[in-house]
Amino acid sequence: MKIICVGRNYADHAKELKNEVPTEPVIFMKPKSALLPQGKALYYPEFTEDLHYECELVVKITGNGKYIQEKFAHKYYGEVSLGIDFTARDLQDKQKKKGLPWEIAKAFDNSAVIGKFISFSEIKNIHDLNFCMYLNKKVAQNGNTKDMIYSIETLISFISKYFTLQQGDLIYTGTPVGVGSVKQGDKLEAFIENESLLEFEVK
Ligand code: MG
Repeated sequence: MKIICVGRNYADHAKELKNEVPTEPVIFMKPKSALLPQGKALYYPEFTEDLHYECELVVKITGNGKYIQEKFAHKYYGEVSLGIDFTARDLQDKQKKKGLPWEIAKAFDNSAVIGKFISFSEIKNIHDLNFCMYLNKKVAQNGNTKDMIYSIETLISFISKYFTLQQGDLIYTGTPVGVGSVKQGDKLEAFIENESLLEFEVK
């Protein structure tokens, strides 16, 4: 399986990091070794002094496909969860300034936290879904999938032009506004509507 991530998919988040709102999806990947399963603690990596959380809706791909048309994209996913796209912001800023790839800042071990998946039968409308992340019991991020610049269907179609999507692949669909730093001892919890799907501690 592979982990495909979308950058700058919410206009307010693009602005908070002083990035342009993109004219087509910004895509990067993380390896399977980046995955941190639900409930496991995250150990603060020694190579960064500014580890940022980015809470994102995650879509699980349920079928194999290449050149998937937008109108058929809904047939290729049926479960969603929440994940954290952890980012070593100091390393990423350094790489971005030099125009270098940012994998060391985004794709390191345990940088992709993943929660419990829920199926579509439990969801009213995937295109109008509230999700939020709490940091030490206080709301840190609040998003709604209706504010995505590129919808899940557009993303699946775009990504599958370049990469064959395979059953089990995960798409991190981008973070809303409100990203920030974590420190050791912090507790994070994330919800879709009122259901807690993700809870862990930074150690
Ligand atoms: Mg992200």
